[in-house]
Amino acid sequence: MRTKAEWQAMAASLVIESRAFIAGEYVTSQNSQTFTDINPATGEVLAQVVACHEADVAHAVQVAKQQFEAGCWSALPARERKRILLAWAALLREHAEELALLETLDTGKPIGHAQAIDINNTVYCVQWFAEAIDKISGDVPDIAANLHAVISREPMGVVAAIVPWNFPLMMASWKFAPALAAGNSVILKPSEKSPLTAIRVAGLAKQAGIPDGVFQVLPGDGSVGAMLAQHMDVDCVTFTGSTAVGRKIAQASASSNLKRIWLELGGKSANIVMADADLQAAAEGVAAGVFFNQGEMCSAGSRVLVQRAVYPQFIDLLEHAAKAWQPADPLEQNTLMGAIIDRSQFDKVMGYIAVGREEAELIFGGEAVSGTAGWFIQPTLFVSSPDTKIAREEIFGPVCTVILFDDEAQALQIANDSIYGLGAGIWTQNIGTAYRMSRKLRAGSVWINCYEESGDQNLPFGGYKQSGNGRDKSLHALDKYMEIKTTLLKI
Ligand code: NAP
Ligand code: MG
Repeated sequence: MRTKAEWQAMAASLVIESRAFIAGEYVTSQNSQTFTDINPATGEVLAQVVACHEADVAHAVQVAKQQFEAGCWSALPARERKRILLAWAALLREHAEELALLETLDTGKPIGHAQAIDINNTVYCVQWFAEAIDKISGDVPDIAANLHAVISREPMGVVAAIVPWNFPLMMASWKFAPALAAGNSVILKPSEKSPLTAIRVAGLAKQAGIPDGVFQVLPGDGSVGAMLAQHMDVDCVTFTGSTAVGRKIAQASASSNLKRIWLELGGKSANIVMADADLQAAAEGVAAGVFFNQGEMCSAGSRVLVQRAVYPQFIDLLEHAAKAWQPADPLEQNTLMGAIIDRSQFDKVMGYIAVGREEAELIFGGEAVSGTAGWFIQPTLFVSSPDTKIAREEIFGPVCTVILFDDEAQALQIANDSIYGLGAGIWTQNIGTAYRMSRKLRAGSVWINCYEESGDQNLPFGGYKQSGNGRDKSLHALDKYMEIKTTLLKI
Protein backbone atom coordinates (compact mmCIF):
# COMPACT_ATOMS: atom_id res chain seq x y z
CA MET A 1 0.00 0.00 0.00
CA ARG A 2 1.39 3.38 -0.99
CA THR A 3 0.10 6.84 -0.30
CA LYS A 4 -0.97 9.18 -3.05
CA ALA A 5 2.07 11.33 -2.29
CA GLU A 6 4.37 8.34 -2.81
CA TRP A 7 2.74 7.49 -6.14
CA GLN A 8 2.97 11.12 -7.22
CA ALA A 9 6.66 11.21 -6.32
CA MET A 10 7.23 8.02 -8.32
CA ALA A 11 5.30 9.52 -11.23
CA ALA A 12 7.41 12.66 -11.14
CA SER A 13 10.63 10.66 -11.45
CA LEU A 14 9.37 8.24 -14.15
CA VAL A 15 11.30 8.26 -17.38
CA ILE A 16 8.64 7.40 -19.93
CA GLU A 17 9.77 5.48 -23.01
CA SER A 18 7.58 6.52 -25.91
CA ARG A 19 9.25 5.06 -28.99
CA ALA A 20 8.32 2.07 -31.09
CA PHE A 21 10.18 -1.20 -30.50
CA ILE A 22 11.29 -2.70 -33.81
CA ALA A 23 13.98 -5.31 -34.48
CA GLY A 24 15.06 -5.24 -30.84
CA GLU A 25 15.56 -1.48 -30.56
CA TYR A 26 13.56 1.53 -29.45
CA VAL A 27 13.21 3.67 -32.57
CA THR A 28 11.45 6.75 -33.91
CA SER A 29 9.12 6.51 -36.88
CA GLN A 30 10.72 6.62 -40.30
CA ASN A 31 8.76 9.82 -40.97
CA SER A 32 9.40 11.24 -37.47
CA GLN A 33 5.75 11.72 -36.55
CA THR A 34 4.39 11.54 -33.00
CA PHE A 35 1.06 11.84 -31.22
CA THR A 36 0.19 13.22 -27.79
CA ASP A 37 -0.67 10.84 -24.97
CA ILE A 38 -2.53 12.31 -21.99
CA ASN A 39 -3.42 11.39 -18.44
CA PRO A 40 -7.24 11.52 -18.48
CA ALA A 41 -7.45 12.11 -14.73
CA THR A 42 -5.54 15.39 -14.96
CA GLY A 43 -5.44 16.36 -18.62
CA GLU A 44 -1.63 16.48 -18.41
CA VAL A 45 0.50 15.43 -21.34
CA LEU A 46 2.41 12.25 -20.49
CA ALA A 47 4.44 11.82 -23.64
CA GLN A 48 4.78 12.49 -27.33
CA VAL A 49 4.58 8.96 -28.63
CA VAL A 50 6.03 7.67 -31.88
CA ALA A 51 3.34 7.31 -34.53
CA CYS A 52 4.27 4.40 -36.77
CA HIS A 53 3.59 4.60 -40.49
CA GLU A 54 3.62 2.35 -43.49
CA ALA A 55 7.41 2.03 -43.69
CA ASP A 56 7.62 1.10 -40.00
CA VAL A 57 4.90 -1.51 -40.37
CA ALA A 58 6.62 -2.93 -43.44
CA HIS A 59 9.95 -3.10 -41.64
CA ALA A 60 8.50 -4.73 -38.52
CA VAL A 61 6.63 -7.36 -40.52
CA GLN A 62 9.69 -8.13 -42.62
CA VAL A 63 11.88 -8.61 -39.52
CA ALA A 64 9.20 -10.68 -37.79
CA LYS A 65 8.90 -12.97 -40.80
CA GLN A 66 12.64 -13.27 -41.25
CA GLN A 67 13.12 -14.22 -37.60
CA PHE A 68 10.28 -16.71 -37.79
CA GLU A 69 11.83 -18.38 -40.81
CA ALA A 70 15.28 -18.34 -39.24
CA GLY A 71 13.83 -20.31 -36.32
CA CYS A 72 15.61 -18.34 -33.59
CA TRP A 73 12.39 -18.52 -31.56
CA SER A 74 9.96 -20.65 -33.55
CA ALA A 75 12.34 -23.63 -33.66
CA LEU A 76 13.52 -23.44 -30.06
CA PRO A 77 12.55 -26.40 -27.90
CA ALA A 78 9.40 -25.50 -25.94
CA ARG A 79 11.24 -25.69 -22.65
CA GLU A 80 13.68 -23.05 -23.89
CA ARG A 81 10.86 -20.66 -24.81
CA LYS A 82 9.39 -21.46 -21.41
CA ARG A 83 12.63 -20.51 -19.64
CA ILE A 84 12.80 -17.16 -21.43
CA LEU A 85 9.13 -16.35 -20.94
CA LEU A 86 9.44 -17.14 -17.23
CA ALA A 87 12.41 -14.78 -17.07
CA TRP A 88 10.23 -12.13 -18.71
CA ALA A 89 7.42 -12.79 -16.20
CA ALA A 90 9.94 -12.35 -13.36
CA LEU A 91 11.06 -9.01 -14.81
CA LEU A 92 7.45 -7.89 -15.18
CA ARG A 93 6.90 -8.82 -11.53
CA GLU A 94 9.99 -6.84 -10.53
CA HIS A 95 8.65 -3.80 -12.39
CA ALA A 96 5.04 -4.30 -11.28
CA GLU A 97 4.72 -1.00 -9.42
CA GLU A 98 6.18 0.99 -12.30
CA LEU A 99 3.89 -0.77 -14.79
CA ALA A 100 0.81 -0.27 -12.61
CA LEU A 101 1.64 3.41 -12.24
CA LEU A 102 2.13 3.78 -16.00
CA GLU A 103 -1.23 2.08 -16.60
CA THR A 104 -3.00 4.37 -14.13
CA LEU A 105 -1.41 7.52 -15.50
CA ASP A 106 -2.23 6.49 -19.06
CA THR A 107 -5.84 5.35 -18.55
CA GLY A 108 -7.13 7.02 -15.36
CA LYS A 109 -7.94 3.65 -13.78
CA PRO A 110 -7.50 3.26 -9.99
CA ILE A 111 -3.97 2.33 -8.97
CA GLY A 112 -5.18 -0.45 -6.68
CA HIS A 113 -6.92 -2.14 -9.62
CA ALA A 114 -3.99 -1.54 -11.96
CA GLN A 115 -1.82 -3.45 -9.49
CA ALA A 116 -4.20 -6.21 -8.42
CA ILE A 117 -5.92 -6.81 -11.75
CA ASP A 118 -4.01 -5.44 -14.74
CA ILE A 119 -0.39 -6.10 -13.86
CA ASN A 120 -0.92 -9.08 -11.59
CA ASN A 121 -2.90 -10.86 -14.30
CA THR A 122 -0.40 -9.92 -16.96
CA VAL A 123 2.43 -11.56 -15.03
CA TYR A 124 0.28 -14.57 -14.25
CA CYS A 125 -0.73 -14.88 -17.91
CA VAL A 126 2.85 -14.88 -19.21
CA GLN A 127 3.81 -17.38 -16.52
CA TRP A 128 0.80 -19.62 -17.20
CA PHE A 129 1.45 -19.96 -20.94
CA ALA A 130 5.18 -20.39 -20.35
CA GLU A 131 4.44 -23.25 -17.99
CA ALA A 132 1.85 -24.77 -20.31
CA ILE A 133 3.86 -24.87 -23.51
CA ASP A 134 6.20 -27.75 -22.68
CA LYS A 135 3.23 -29.94 -21.70
CA ILE A 136 1.58 -29.72 -25.10
CA SER A 137 2.26 -32.52 -27.57
CA GLY A 138 0.86 -34.04 -30.72
CA ASP A 139 -1.02 -37.28 -31.41
CA VAL A 140 -0.23 -40.59 -33.04
CA PRO A 141 -3.62 -42.03 -33.99
CA ASP A 142 -4.07 -45.73 -34.58
CA ILE A 143 -5.22 -45.80 -38.23
CA ALA A 144 -4.01 -48.79 -40.26
CA ALA A 145 -1.28 -51.39 -39.92
CA ASN A 146 0.71 -50.05 -42.88
CA LEU A 147 0.40 -46.40 -42.02
CA HIS A 148 1.96 -44.24 -39.38
CA ALA A 149 0.43 -40.81 -38.76
CA VAL A 150 1.71 -37.94 -36.68
CA ILE A 151 -0.54 -34.99 -35.89
CA SER A 152 1.60 -32.09 -34.79
CA ARG A 153 1.13 -28.43 -34.00
CA GLU A 154 3.27 -25.70 -35.45
CA PRO A 155 3.41 -21.95 -34.90
CA MET A 156 1.64 -19.88 -37.55
CA GLY A 157 4.22 -17.23 -38.31
CA VAL A 158 3.65 -13.52 -37.82
CA VAL A 159 0.85 -12.75 -35.38
CA ALA A 160 -0.38 -9.15 -35.08
CA ALA A 161 -2.13 -8.34 -31.80
CA ILE A 162 -4.34 -5.25 -31.93
CA VAL A 163 -5.68 -4.26 -28.52
CA PRO A 164 -7.90 -1.65 -26.82
CA TRP A 165 -7.30 0.83 -24.01
CA ASN A 166 -9.48 -0.48 -21.20
CA PHE A 167 -7.01 -3.07 -19.86
CA PRO A 168 -4.08 -2.17 -22.11
CA LEU A 169 -1.40 -4.58 -20.96
CA MET A 170 -3.60 -7.36 -19.61
CA MET A 171 -5.62 -7.66 -22.86
CA ALA A 172 -2.35 -7.59 -24.78
CA SER A 173 -0.90 -10.36 -22.61
CA TRP A 174 -3.92 -12.56 -23.29
CA LYS A 175 -2.74 -12.45 -26.92
CA PHE A 176 1.05 -12.19 -26.83
CA ALA A 177 1.62 -14.77 -24.08
CA PRO A 178 0.02 -17.73 -25.89
CA ALA A 179 1.20 -16.54 -29.31
CA LEU A 180 4.82 -16.28 -28.16
CA ALA A 181 4.66 -19.49 -26.15
CA ALA A 182 3.52 -21.25 -29.33
CA GLY A 183 6.59 -19.96 -31.19
CA ASN A 184 5.21 -17.12 -33.29
CA SER A 185 6.70 -13.70 -33.96
CA VAL A 186 4.36 -11.12 -32.41
CA ILE A 187 3.71 -7.52 -33.42
CA LEU A 188 1.67 -5.63 -30.82
CA LYS A 189 -0.37 -2.56 -31.76
CA PRO A 190 -1.60 -0.86 -28.59
CA SER A 191 -4.36 1.75 -28.65
CA GLU A 192 -3.12 5.29 -29.18
CA LYS A 193 -4.99 6.15 -25.97
CA SER A 194 -2.83 3.86 -23.82
CA PRO A 195 0.44 2.80 -25.48
CA LEU A 196 2.90 3.18 -22.59
CA THR A 197 2.95 -0.20 -20.84
CA ALA A 198 3.16 -2.09 -24.13
CA ILE A 199 6.19 -0.01 -25.07
CA ARG A 200 7.80 -0.51 -21.67
CA VAL A 201 7.48 -4.30 -21.55
CA ALA A 202 9.15 -4.67 -24.95
CA GLY A 203 12.49 -3.62 -23.45
CA LEU A 204 11.98 -6.15 -20.66
CA ALA A 205 11.25 -8.84 -23.25
CA LYS A 206 14.63 -8.20 -24.82
CA GLN A 207 16.29 -8.22 -21.40
CA ALA A 208 14.68 -11.60 -20.69
CA GLY A 209 16.16 -13.03 -23.87
CA ILE A 210 13.35 -12.87 -26.42
CA PRO A 211 15.25 -12.53 -29.72
CA ASP A 212 15.14 -9.26 -31.64
CA GLY A 213 12.17 -9.01 -33.97
CA VAL A 214 10.18 -11.71 -32.19
CA PHE A 215 8.26 -9.26 -30.01
CA GLN A 216 7.76 -5.78 -31.49
CA VAL A 217 5.51 -2.88 -30.52
CA LEU A 218 4.09 -0.41 -33.03
CA PRO A 219 2.33 2.54 -31.41
CA GLY A 220 0.12 4.62 -33.67
CA ASP A 221 -3.51 5.13 -34.54
CA GLY A 222 -6.02 2.76 -36.08
CA SER A 223 -4.29 2.99 -39.46
CA VAL A 224 -1.40 0.91 -38.08
CA GLY A 225 -3.91 -1.79 -37.15
CA ALA A 226 -5.51 -1.54 -40.58
CA MET A 227 -2.12 -1.95 -42.32
CA LEU A 228 -1.34 -5.04 -40.25
CA ALA A 229 -4.78 -6.51 -41.01
CA GLN A 230 -4.22 -5.95 -44.72
CA HIS A 231 -0.59 -7.15 -44.85
CA MET A 232 0.13 -10.22 -46.98
CA ASP A 233 2.90 -11.43 -44.64
CA VAL A 234 0.87 -11.25 -41.44
CA ASP A 235 -0.48 -14.75 -40.82
CA CYS A 236 -2.91 -14.00 -38.02
CA VAL A 237 -4.59 -10.98 -36.48
CA THR A 238 -5.77 -11.36 -32.93
CA PHE A 239 -7.95 -8.45 -31.96
CA THR A 240 -9.80 -7.05 -28.98
CA GLY A 241 -11.91 -3.99 -29.57
CA SER A 242 -15.19 -2.82 -30.99
CA THR A 243 -17.48 -4.88 -33.18
CA ALA A 244 -17.25 -2.18 -35.87
CA VAL A 245 -13.46 -2.46 -36.16
CA GLY A 246 -13.67 -6.25 -35.84
CA ARG A 247 -15.80 -6.24 -38.97
CA LYS A 248 -13.16 -4.19 -40.81
CA ILE A 249 -10.49 -6.68 -39.79
CA ALA A 250 -12.57 -9.55 -41.13
CA GLN A 251 -12.94 -7.64 -44.41
CA ALA A 252 -9.20 -6.94 -44.55
CA SER A 253 -8.47 -10.62 -44.06
CA ALA A 254 -10.93 -11.57 -46.79
CA SER A 255 -9.45 -9.10 -49.25
CA SER A 256 -5.81 -9.97 -48.54
CA ASN A 257 -4.37 -13.37 -47.61
CA LEU A 258 -7.24 -14.86 -45.58
CA LYS A 259 -5.09 -14.52 -42.49
CA ARG A 260 -6.56 -16.16 -39.40
CA ILE A 261 -8.57 -13.70 -37.38
CA TRP A 262 -9.60 -13.90 -33.76
CA LEU A 263 -12.02 -11.27 -32.55
CA GLU A 264 -12.94 -10.35 -28.99
CA LEU A 265 -15.57 -7.67 -29.49
CA GLY A 266 -18.23 -5.65 -27.73
CA GLY A 267 -21.01 -6.66 -25.39
CA LYS A 268 -24.21 -5.66 -23.67
CA SER A 269 -24.30 -8.35 -21.06
CA ALA A 270 -27.37 -9.21 -19.02
CA ASN A 271 -27.08 -9.59 -15.26
CA ILE A 272 -30.29 -11.26 -14.09
CA VAL A 273 -31.60 -10.82 -10.54
CA MET A 274 -34.26 -13.38 -9.62
CA ALA A 275 -36.61 -12.54 -6.75
CA ASP A 276 -35.19 -15.38 -4.63
CA ALA A 277 -31.62 -14.04 -4.80
CA ASP A 278 -29.57 -12.87 -1.84
CA LEU A 279 -30.46 -9.28 -2.76
CA GLN A 280 -27.69 -7.62 -0.77
CA ALA A 281 -25.00 -9.76 -2.43
CA ALA A 282 -26.69 -9.27 -5.80
CA ALA A 283 -26.76 -5.48 -5.40
CA GLU A 284 -23.04 -5.38 -4.60
CA GLY A 285 -22.22 -7.78 -7.44
CA VAL A 286 -24.37 -5.90 -9.94
CA ALA A 287 -22.77 -2.56 -8.99
CA ALA A 288 -19.25 -3.96 -9.34
CA GLY A 289 -20.25 -5.71 -12.58
CA VAL A 290 -21.12 -2.45 -14.29
CA PHE A 291 -19.07 0.21 -12.50
CA PHE A 292 -15.73 -1.60 -12.23
CA ASN A 293 -13.11 -0.04 -14.54
CA GLN A 294 -15.44 2.98 -14.98
CA GLY A 295 -17.77 0.67 -16.87
CA GLU A 296 -15.18 0.53 -19.65
CA MET A 297 -15.48 -3.19 -19.88
CA CYS A 298 -16.54 -5.38 -22.77
CA SER A 299 -18.19 -7.77 -20.34
CA ALA A 300 -19.85 -5.07 -18.20
CA GLY A 301 -23.19 -6.31 -16.86
CA SER A 302 -24.81 -3.18 -18.23
CA ARG A 303 -28.31 -4.62 -18.69
CA VAL A 304 -29.61 -5.51 -15.25
CA LEU A 305 -32.74 -7.62 -15.46
CA VAL A 306 -34.70 -7.45 -12.20
CA GLN A 307 -37.71 -9.60 -11.35
CA ARG A 308 -40.64 -7.27 -10.76
CA ALA A 309 -41.49 -8.80 -7.36
CA VAL A 310 -38.33 -7.30 -5.79
CA TYR A 311 -38.60 -3.89 -7.40
CA PRO A 312 -38.13 -1.23 -5.97
CA GLN A 313 -36.47 -2.93 -2.96
CA PHE A 314 -33.55 -4.08 -5.11
CA ILE A 315 -33.05 -0.60 -6.61
CA ASP A 316 -32.63 0.85 -3.12
CA LEU A 317 -29.95 -1.71 -2.33
CA LEU A 318 -28.26 -1.04 -5.67
CA GLU A 319 -28.27 2.71 -5.10
CA HIS A 320 -26.65 2.13 -1.75
CA ALA A 321 -24.04 -0.23 -3.26
CA ALA A 322 -23.27 2.28 -6.03
CA LYS A 323 -22.20 4.87 -3.46
CA ALA A 324 -18.91 3.02 -3.05
CA TRP A 325 -18.23 3.62 -6.75
CA GLN A 326 -18.13 7.43 -6.73
CA PRO A 327 -15.23 8.58 -8.92
CA ALA A 328 -12.11 9.75 -7.10
CA ASP A 329 -8.40 10.32 -7.66
CA PRO A 330 -6.95 7.21 -9.34
CA LEU A 331 -3.71 7.59 -7.37
CA GLU A 332 -5.51 7.09 -4.05
CA GLN A 333 -4.96 3.46 -3.15
CA ASN A 334 -8.59 2.81 -2.15
CA THR A 335 -10.31 4.53 -5.10
CA LEU A 336 -12.74 2.20 -6.89
CA MET A 337 -13.67 4.35 -9.87
CA GLY A 338 -11.28 6.60 -11.78
CA ALA A 339 -11.43 8.73 -14.91
CA ILE A 340 -12.95 8.00 -18.33
CA ILE A 341 -10.20 7.35 -20.90
CA ASP A 342 -10.51 10.60 -22.88
CA ARG A 343 -12.67 13.46 -24.05
CA SER A 344 -14.27 11.57 -26.92
CA GLN A 345 -15.30 8.61 -24.74
CA PHE A 346 -16.54 11.06 -22.08
CA ASP A 347 -18.68 12.81 -24.71
CA LYS A 348 -19.99 9.48 -25.97
CA VAL A 349 -21.06 8.37 -22.49
CA MET A 350 -22.62 11.76 -21.64
CA GLY A 351 -24.42 11.59 -24.99
CA TYR A 352 -25.97 8.23 -24.03
CA ILE A 353 -26.96 9.67 -20.66
CA ALA A 354 -28.73 12.54 -22.44
CA VAL A 355 -30.57 10.03 -24.65
CA GLY A 356 -31.43 7.99 -21.55
CA ARG A 357 -33.02 11.01 -19.91
CA GLU A 358 -35.39 11.21 -22.89
CA GLU A 359 -36.27 7.56 -23.36
CA ALA A 360 -36.00 6.10 -19.83
CA GLU A 361 -36.22 7.04 -16.14
CA LEU A 362 -33.06 8.26 -14.44
CA ILE A 363 -32.79 6.81 -10.93
CA PHE A 364 -29.42 8.14 -9.81
CA GLY A 365 -26.21 9.71 -11.14
CA GLY A 366 -26.20 11.12 -14.65
CA GLU A 367 -23.74 13.94 -14.07
CA ALA A 368 -20.13 14.58 -14.85
CA VAL A 369 -17.99 15.41 -11.84
CA SER A 370 -17.18 19.11 -11.90
CA GLY A 371 -14.21 20.93 -10.42
CA THR A 372 -11.56 18.63 -11.89
CA ALA A 373 -9.44 18.80 -15.01
CA GLY A 374 -10.08 15.12 -15.74
CA TRP A 375 -12.98 13.18 -17.24
CA PHE A 376 -15.11 11.75 -14.44
CA ILE A 377 -18.72 10.56 -14.56
CA GLN A 378 -20.94 9.47 -11.67
CA PRO A 379 -22.24 5.92 -11.50
CA THR A 380 -25.57 6.20 -13.30
CA LEU A 381 -28.71 4.09 -13.30
CA PHE A 382 -31.76 4.12 -15.52
CA VAL A 383 -34.90 2.02 -15.51
CA SER A 384 -36.01 1.33 -19.05
CA SER A 385 -38.02 -0.87 -21.37
CA PRO A 386 -35.88 -3.44 -23.23
CA ASP A 387 -36.05 -1.68 -26.59
CA THR A 388 -34.42 1.69 -25.90
CA LYS A 389 -31.04 2.76 -27.22
CA ILE A 390 -29.48 2.69 -23.74
CA ALA A 391 -30.83 -0.83 -23.22
CA ARG A 392 -29.46 -2.17 -26.51
CA GLU A 393 -26.22 -0.37 -27.38
CA GLU A 394 -22.85 -0.75 -25.73
CA ILE A 395 -22.10 2.46 -23.80
CA PHE A 396 -18.69 1.54 -22.36
CA GLY A 397 -19.08 3.83 -19.35
CA PRO A 398 -20.55 3.74 -15.81
CA VAL A 399 -24.15 3.55 -17.00
CA CYS A 400 -26.47 0.76 -15.96
CA THR A 401 -29.90 0.08 -17.44
CA VAL A 402 -32.40 -1.84 -15.33
CA ILE A 403 -35.12 -3.76 -17.16
CA LEU A 404 -38.00 -5.41 -15.28
CA PHE A 405 -39.31 -8.91 -16.03
CA ASP A 406 -42.00 -11.16 -14.60
CA ASP A 407 -40.76 -14.73 -15.00
CA GLU A 408 -37.80 -16.85 -16.01
CA ALA A 409 -38.89 -17.28 -19.61
CA GLN A 410 -39.22 -13.55 -20.10
CA ALA A 411 -35.82 -12.94 -18.46
CA LEU A 412 -34.18 -15.38 -20.88
CA GLN A 413 -35.98 -13.90 -23.86
CA ILE A 414 -34.81 -10.37 -23.00
CA ALA A 415 -31.28 -11.51 -22.10
CA ASN A 416 -30.80 -13.32 -25.42
CA ASP A 417 -32.41 -10.59 -27.51
CA SER A 418 -29.10 -8.88 -28.30
CA ILE A 419 -26.61 -8.91 -31.14
CA TYR A 420 -23.98 -9.57 -28.46
CA GLY A 421 -23.23 -12.61 -26.32
CA LEU A 422 -20.17 -12.04 -24.19
CA GLY A 423 -21.22 -12.56 -20.57
CA ALA A 424 -24.31 -13.11 -18.46
CA GLY A 425 -25.02 -13.24 -14.75
CA ILE A 426 -27.72 -15.00 -12.73
CA TRP A 427 -28.49 -14.24 -9.11
CA THR A 428 -30.71 -16.84 -7.43
CA GLN A 429 -30.59 -19.17 -4.44
CA ASN A 430 -32.23 -21.96 -6.40
CA ILE A 431 -29.58 -24.12 -8.00
CA GLY A 432 -32.09 -25.63 -10.43
CA THR A 433 -33.08 -22.19 -11.69
CA ALA A 434 -29.43 -21.23 -12.03
CA TYR A 435 -28.49 -24.30 -14.03
CA ARG A 436 -31.56 -24.30 -16.23
CA MET A 437 -31.04 -20.64 -17.12
CA SER A 438 -27.29 -20.95 -17.64
CA ARG A 439 -27.89 -23.56 -20.34
CA LYS A 440 -30.20 -21.26 -22.25
CA LEU A 441 -28.11 -18.10 -22.10
CA ARG A 442 -26.28 -17.44 -25.38
CA ALA A 443 -23.08 -16.06 -23.88
CA GLY A 444 -19.43 -17.08 -23.63
CA SER A 445 -19.34 -16.78 -19.84
CA VAL A 446 -22.17 -17.30 -17.38
CA TRP A 447 -21.57 -16.21 -13.80
CA ILE A 448 -23.87 -17.55 -11.08
CA ASN A 449 -24.07 -15.54 -7.86
CA CYS A 450 -20.97 -13.61 -8.92
CA TYR A 451 -20.02 -11.45 -11.87
CA GLU A 452 -16.79 -11.14 -13.84
CA GLU A 453 -15.03 -13.66 -11.63
CA SER A 454 -12.67 -14.60 -14.40
CA GLY A 455 -9.18 -13.81 -13.19
CA ASP A 456 -8.07 -17.41 -13.44
CA GLN A 457 -6.12 -18.29 -16.58
CA ASN A 458 -7.79 -21.69 -16.76
CA LEU A 459 -11.08 -20.05 -17.75
CA PRO A 460 -11.63 -19.33 -21.46
CA PHE A 461 -12.98 -15.86 -22.25
CA GLY A 462 -14.79 -14.74 -25.37
CA GLY A 463 -18.12 -14.27 -26.99
CA TYR A 464 -21.06 -15.73 -28.86
CA LYS A 465 -22.69 -13.93 -31.78
CA GLN A 466 -21.30 -10.47 -32.62
CA SER A 467 -19.16 -10.47 -29.49
CA GLY A 468 -16.59 -12.34 -31.53
CA ASN A 469 -15.00 -15.74 -32.02
CA GLY A 470 -12.29 -17.79 -30.39
CA ARG A 471 -11.34 -17.66 -26.73
CA ASP A 472 -8.58 -15.88 -24.85
CA LYS A 473 -6.96 -17.54 -21.81
CA SER A 474 -6.83 -21.30 -21.13
CA LEU A 475 -5.40 -23.94 -23.47
CA HIS A 476 -8.03 -22.94 -26.05
CA ALA A 477 -6.01 -19.75 -26.58
CA LEU A 478 -2.92 -21.74 -27.59
CA ASP A 479 -4.87 -23.46 -30.36
CA LYS A 480 -5.53 -20.09 -31.95
CA TYR A 481 -1.85 -19.55 -32.66
CA MET A 482 -0.92 -22.98 -33.99
CA GLU A 483 -1.55 -24.77 -37.25
CA ILE A 484 -2.27 -28.49 -37.16
CA LYS A 485 -0.20 -30.67 -39.46
CA THR A 486 -0.95 -34.24 -40.43
CA THR A 487 2.11 -36.25 -41.49
CA LEU A 488 1.45 -39.68 -42.96
CA LEU A 489 4.03 -42.37 -43.57
CA LYS A 490 3.49 -45.63 -45.41
CA ILE A 491 5.39 -48.44 -43.76
P1 NAP B 1 -11.59 0.04 -31.10
O1 NAP B 1 -11.87 1.41 -31.48
O2 NAP B 1 -12.20 -1.06 -31.88
O3 NAP B 1 -10.01 -0.11 -31.06
C1 NAP B 1 -9.35 -1.31 -30.75
C2 NAP B 1 -7.99 -1.31 -31.39
O4 NAP B 1 -8.12 -1.33 -32.83
C3 NAP B 1 -7.16 -0.08 -31.07
O5 NAP B 1 -5.80 -0.43 -30.97
C4 NAP B 1 -7.41 0.79 -32.29
O6 NAP B 1 -6.41 1.76 -32.49
C5 NAP B 1 -7.41 -0.25 -33.39
N1 NAP B 1 -8.07 0.15 -34.62
C6 NAP B 1 -8.88 1.22 -34.86
N2 NAP B 1 -9.29 1.22 -36.15
C7 NAP B 1 -8.74 0.14 -36.74
C8 NAP B 1 -8.82 -0.41 -38.06
N3 NAP B 1 -9.56 0.15 -39.01
N4 NAP B 1 -8.14 -1.55 -38.31
C9 NAP B 1 -7.42 -2.14 -37.35
N5 NAP B 1 -7.29 -1.66 -36.09
C10 NAP B 1 -7.96 -0.53 -35.78
O7 NAP B 1 -12.02 -0.26 -29.62
P2 NAP B 1 -11.70 0.61 -28.35
O8 NAP B 1 -12.56 1.83 -28.38
O9 NAP B 1 -10.26 0.77 -28.19
O10 NAP B 1 -12.20 -0.36 -27.19
C11 NAP B 1 -13.53 -0.47 -26.85
C12 NAP B 1 -14.17 -1.68 -27.49
O11 NAP B 1 -13.42 -2.85 -27.23
C13 NAP B 1 -15.53 -1.94 -26.93
O12 NAP B 1 -16.43 -2.22 -27.96
C14 NAP B 1 -15.34 -3.17 -26.06
O13 NAP B 1 -16.46 -3.95 -25.88
C15 NAP B 1 -14.27 -3.89 -26.78
N6 NAP B 1 -13.56 -4.77 -25.86
C16 NAP B 1 -13.77 -6.12 -25.98
C17 NAP B 1 -13.14 -7.00 -25.13
C18 NAP B 1 -13.37 -8.48 -25.25
O14 NAP B 1 -12.59 -9.25 -24.72
N7 NAP B 1 -14.38 -8.92 -25.94
C19 NAP B 1 -12.27 -6.52 -24.16
C20 NAP B 1 -12.07 -5.15 -24.07
C21 NAP B 1 -12.71 -4.29 -24.94
P3 NAP B 1 -6.58 3.22 -31.86
O15 NAP B 1 -7.19 3.08 -30.50
O16 NAP B 1 -5.19 3.72 -31.81
O17 NAP B 1 -7.48 3.97 -32.80
MG1 MG C 1 -3.42 8.01 -22.21
